[in-house]
Amino acid sequence: MQILHTIKETRQACAKSRTVAGSSSTVGLVPTMGALHEGHLSLIRAAKKQCNIVVATIFVNPTQFGPNEDFTRYPRTFASDCALLESEGVDLLFAPTVEEMYPTGTARTFIEVPGISDRLDGLSRPGHFRGVATVVAKLFHIVSPDFAYFGQKDAAQVAVLRAMVHDLNFPVELVVCPTVREPEGLALSSRNQYLSADERNHALVLSQSLASATAMATAGVHDVRQLRSSILQRLKSSPALKIDYVEIVDPATLESVSDIQGGALIAIAAWIGKTRLIDNALLPALNH
Ligand code: AMP
Repeated sequence: MQILHTIKETRQACAKSRTVAGSSSTVGLVPTMGALHEGHLSLIRAAKKQCNIVVATIFVNPTQFGPNEDFTRYPRTFASDCALLESEGVDLLFAPTVEEMYPTGTARTFIEVPGISDRLDGLSRPGHFRGVATVVAKLFHIVSPDFAYFGQKDAAQVAVLRAMVHDLNFPVELVVCPTVREPEGLALSSRNQYLSADERNHALVLSQSLASATAMATAGVHDVRQLRSSILQRLKSSPALKIDYVEIVDPATLESVSDIQGGALIAIAAWIGKTRLIDNALLPALNH
């Protein structure tokens, strides 16, 4: 695996890999912030299956963090991340510095997707999706991938990036991979490292509440208020938890839905101590 830190050498390495692999070769991009776990590796494996050349990126992107968020304490485990990516057969790793990505100190040109960027996490974390869309657009321009892999775990991010790719005609296909969970149901996240053993146990209520709402929907409860209040009730039963939001929305627009006939995304965010966790479940469209 080639490890690259500059945009120039990454562009050159991507172009060279394509030349070597032939004109019909495909490049798959897997953007990450590092502190890699099985969720990230599932994206790498999906990319390996589909593409001749797999490019991973590790960049803790400051523009997607708010001023009082965890940018400085976000886990950085570069050496072990490299070993994992190497063992998964990643071809190129682009790991730029903040200065390399934002030579003027921060982004000057931003990408925003109004109406989607400011819902769910975008509402709780103003500017978050503007930072995400901007850095992903930059990575698309640097790597020129044919396919880019993202996790369903970050469902709102998927909605924002799908809209961006569509609206700005990026020649890339987004591939969304299912959320990887611990055996007890907790969605894997680099931020799970912040949790104490006790907090980790409390965190299980997130996936449990989603599983029981999904089961209710499958059993015929289609009333959005009823589904939402069952989740709220479950989450409120855990005093260790502070609910940020519980929303049932259209997965593409993130707008609230009044019924789940056409399918819906149940998205939740909650604080456990100083750690903010998100999780979601996709309800399929109902057959008549
Ligand atoms: P991050 O490093 O948190 O920015 O995540 C990088 C990519 O991995 C994003 O597309 C995430 O949605 C995806 N990802 C994170 N956690 C999981 C998970 N538990 N299952 C599947 N994908 C994930």
